[in-house]
Order: sequence, then structure tokens, then C-alpha cells
Amino acid sequence: MGASQASPARSTEVYVGLPGVASSRLAGGLREVRIWKIRGERLKNRSDWWETVAWRSSHARFPPLLKRTLMARLRLNYTNTVFLVSAHLLAAFAILYLSVIHFSWWSVGLGVVWLALCGLSITGGYHRLFAHPTYKAAWPVRLFHLLFGAASAQNSALKWSADHRDHHARTDQEEDPYNAQRGFWWSHIGWVLFDADSEPDFHRVGDLARDPLVRFQHSHYTWLAILFGAAVPAAIGLSWGDPLGALLCAGFLRLVLQWHATFSINSFAHQIGTQPYSRATSARDSWITALLTFGEGYHNFHHRFQADYRNGVRWYHFDPTKWFVWGLSKVGLARDLRRMPRQAIERARADVSG
Ligand SMILES: [Zn+2]
Ligand SMILES: [Zn+2]
Repeated sequence: MGASQASPARSTEVYVGLPGVASSRLAGGLREVRIWKIRGERLKNRSDWWETVAWRSSHARFPPLLKRTLMARLRLNYTNTVFLVSAHLLAAFAILYLSVIHFSWWSVGLGVVWLALCGLSITGGYHRLFAHPTYKAAWPVRLFHLLFGAASAQNSALKWSADHRDHHARTDQEEDPYNAQRGFWWSHIGWVLFDADSEPDFHRVGDLARDPLVRFQHSHYTWLAILFGAAVPAAIGLSWGDPLGALLCAGFLRLVLQWHATFSINSFAHQIGTQPYSRATSARDSWITALLTFGEGYHNFHHRFQADYRNGVRWYHFDPTKWFVWGLSKVGLARDLRRMPRQAIERARADVSG
């Protein structure tokens, strides 16, 4: 988490859309291209972060040979890639279906409702309940998060939380699964399309594995994802005679929109915005990212105070997840909501601005 772990020239880095590569603008129009370490190598200190200063040139483009070398080092995950590409094609078809073949407000409405339920299960469940235990929830709430979290097709809560705890423990380092230092596209979607350098550390989620509901979801994740992500919406659509429209809207179009919202927390929230609470990592606060992510865009605060159930700490910050969790506590379904002391938060702000 320390500033010393940042790569040396971060402030001048310009990221390009190729996984594993970052380039910096140097004086006089030169560009310095650095290649991310090859999979499997153990890194001992931060000078090893970048394999080498590979290439200096006044050209803005990568030579084809370098591109081919880099791509050859990355092992595509075919299952994830085929699934992601298919889902995107089906989401595009959903728009075509709605605009040309058959439009139904009911199907669109179901898509919006499913987006809200699945979105809150990831932000309020996977993230703020499981990955960071920022509050305690009654079993019906945990079950809700686990069922709609499965529908979100982002792995089981156990795997998601293991990855996410690695992200917080090793932010901006090689072990960070969605390391923003590897470039925008790597942190957004590259880390899903390509095999990870290492498996997530499941020792970090031993506390979660004690919950039988979490274990059940982990064991039956694929079937639960198909059931709640596709079969149930299609079955609901039968009631207004449009199961295909319901499947396309609440299944695939919703899924793709939700994926990119979640991915934005790893990409945009580590690239754009301000750093009022800490400059130790690349995490940033942005109300624009918050709008897209149910409040997760106050990511600088979150990285500094990850035990707090709020991400948008001010009352006016757009953080529907915070309001959702607070609402659950008011009806007795959640308790022990954790807030960092106001003095600690103000001290962090003062340390950064001072
Ligand atoms: Zn987090
Ligand atoms: Zn982060």
C-alpha cells in the first residue's frame, strides 16, 4: 500500500491499450516503452517491476515485432473470452431486438430491476459484505447477495473476495490481479481475458468459507448463474409473452452493462479523479465513476478506509449502496455497520493536503 511501491515514473505514464505494456512520454517527444514482467518470475524488489526499458523511439507506435512478442507471452483464457464475446454479441442483439423486432416496456423494466438487484449484490454484497466485512447481514440478505451475485457472472463470492483482498493487500503491485499499473485495458478487462499469473490466495478468505451459504454458492456457482442470470428472467418474461426479450434485456444486456460498471472500478477508479485521503496507491475519488457504479467511485476513500461501509463518506455523495445497507439496518436485516471515526478521516485529508 505504500508510496514506495509505486512504479518510478507513474506521474508521467501514458497507458496504451495493450496488456502488459506501459509507455511514458519523455522529454523531446521520446517515448519509453516498458514491458511487464513475464508470468511466473518471482520479483524481489521494485526495480524488478519492469523487465527492461525495451525500446526508445520518437515513433508513437509499437513496432510489429514487439507487439507480437508481447502478445505471445499472454495466455488467453478461452472460456472467459468466448463467454465475454458471446455476451457482448447477444447484448448488441438485444438492442436490435428491442428497436426492430419487438419492443416491450415490461422486458426493459425487468432489465432495469435485474440491473439494480445484481448491481447491489456485487457492491453491497460481494464487495462491502464479503470481501470487506463492513457490516453483518441476516441470512436472507446473504442469500440474496449470493443468488444475484451469481447472476452477475463475476465468479463465486469466495473467489471474487480472494481476488479483491489480493487487490487491496497488493495494490499496484504484480500480485494485484487487476493491477492498474499494467495499463487501463488490463485493469478493465484484460485480466479477465488472460490467465492470471497466479491463483488467488484462498487463505485470505477463511472467514468467509465458514459460512455454509457461501460454500453452497461456491460449489454450485455455474448452475446458480444460469438459473438467476438467464432462466428466471426468461420465465418471468413468459407472463407477458416475451421470454426472449426478457432474457435479452435482463440477461445479456444487463450483464454486459453491469460488467463494465464493475470493471470501471478497477480501471477508471484507478485512473481518473482526485486523491483527497491518500496518495499511497493509484485509487481515486470521482463522482462520475460513482454514478456508473452504485457509489463505488469514491475509491480513494475506500482504499484508505476499507473497513467503512460507506464509499461516499459525505451525506450528499452519490452512494446508493451505502443507503441500501443503511436501509437494511433500519429494518433489522443488517447490523454493526462500521464507520471510521470522523477525526481519523479529517486527519487523513489534512495529511494529504498538508
Ligand atoms: Zn474494496
Ligand atoms: Zn481498487
